[in-house]
Amino acid sequence: MEIREFYDYCKEIAGYISAAALVEWDMRTKMPMKAAEDRSLVAGKLARTAFEMSTSPRMAAFVEYFNRPAVNAQLSEVDRRNVELETKQYRKISAIPAEKYEKFTVACSRGEHAWQEAKEKSSFAMFQPYLEEIVGYQREFVEYYGYDKNRYDALLDEFEPSMTTDEVRTVIDGLKTELVPFLRRLLDEGTPPDRSCLDGRVDKATQEKLSHDILVAMTYDLEAGRLDETAHPFTTPIGYGDVRVTTHYYEDDFTSAFFSTMHEGGHALYEQGMSEAYRWMPVRKCASMGIHESQSRTWENLIGRSMPFWRFYYPVLQEALPRFREIPMDQFYKAINTVEPSLVRTEADEVTYNLHIMLRFEIEEALINGAVQVADLPGLWNTKMREYLGVEPTDDAHGVLQDVHWAGGMFGYFPSYMLGNLYAAQFIAAVREGIPDLDDQIAAGHLGVLREWQRAHIHEPGALHDPRDLVMNVTGKPLDYRYFMRYIDEKYSPIYGLAPCGAGKGAD
Ligand code: ZN
Repeated sequence: MEIREFYDYCKEIAGYISAAALVEWDMRTKMPMKAAEDRSLVAGKLARTAFEMSTSPRMAAFVEYFNRPAVNAQLSEVDRRNVELETKQYRKISAIPAEKYEKFTVACSRGEHAWQEAKEKSSFAMFQPYLEEIVGYQREFVEYYGYDKNRYDALLDEFEPSMTTDEVRTVIDGLKTELVPFLRRLLDEGTPPDRSCLDGRVDKATQEKLSHDILVAMTYDLEAGRLDETAHPFTTPIGYGDVRVTTHYYEDDFTSAFFSTMHEGGHALYEQGMSEAYRWMPVRKCASMGIHESQSRTWENLIGRSMPFWRFYYPVLQEALPRFREIPMDQFYKAINTVEPSLVRTEADEVTYNLHIMLRFEIEEALINGAVQVADLPGLWNTKMREYLGVEPTDDAHGVLQDVHWAGGMFGYFPSYMLGNLYAAQFIAAVREGIPDLDDQIAAGHLGVLREWQRAHIHEPGALHDPRDLVMNVTGKPLDYRYFMRYIDEKYSPIYGLAPCGAGKGAD
């Protein structure tokens, strides 16, 4: 058996995945409404074919052969990693009896439907039996997948390969002890920025140009992608040379589209930057969802909401929106960096965002391990919101029912959002060591300097390394939440008129 045959087969599978991605992109952007039913059949068929090929007898034969110690030892690093990734996928998918998985998928689609209605009516009780069924399946599946110490490990692994629940908990426990008091201090002792300069309408055409231009400035390759509008912004890699982004324009809040375009642009640069040599290979994907999120957060927040960036971009904004000629840049900068504990995760700012994730992680982990039951969720949710953020939902729609993830059977994903913020802060510290004049370069509009660094260190390797090894290779240290604490202390304390309090001490 030749490794070439294995790659040819992977290429075939990747072809179906690419076609499915294109059909799904079309469904969410351009498809005429009346095509919905037939098109979902086509999308489903393509996805199922890829899925079946990944567990076929042919794949089983490749997995068996290329994992023989004598054969495996002869493989190159890249070949070995490709075999490893495909093997992991194969074992995971084939661990669960097909008919059981089918039932789970049905439970999830019913769950999503019920969730939608329950959210509209703000009634957790309506959703509870559906969630109980879904959680029941997940508790069963973790036994099929297997785990070392904690059942939740089995779910986490899907999104953050080889990271354990213990590791996430250690990070969260440390972060929590610094972040919760930091937020209190900011709100109790600091002076909040005046956001009124952001009020006012901006027409869609102007916003489209702003979004387009910022992607160009970020060196997103528009000849290998495109920008469209959808209800919820997303990035989708269709394949090599085709990574598409979307955004959503609100005429009464132009910053929403602008920053979401930078966010999706950050995801897209990662996908566009993966090595051409890995075309069609299993390794041509993100190292983890957290690493993916670190790239989007870097562009959206660490760059997009930074002072050096606006030194470059404020004149561009003033040209597009002349009313900002009257507003000092400093006022605008503070306005886009307002910290406000809110009930809804997707509206959270940089400082409070991770607190939303902590409570979700703690609830999920307890739920999967049977330490709490579905019925306990609304109460638990509200208690933790009060404890971490100091605000409490008055209804389930703005509380425990706000995210679609659990309804869709997605457990173990939330930590990736938080890890993305933490990786981003740690990576940017490494960037500053490599590019000491980073701020000057950004202020001069040379955003490509950062992109080149990211490409060389993070984008090109794709999934060649697990996130743990990637972080170690790039920063010389394991993941350390203190980089994030130091970053927000140095940024937000001055915005709120306070001296930095020395948070995140020991990060370097
Ligand atoms: Zn994202």
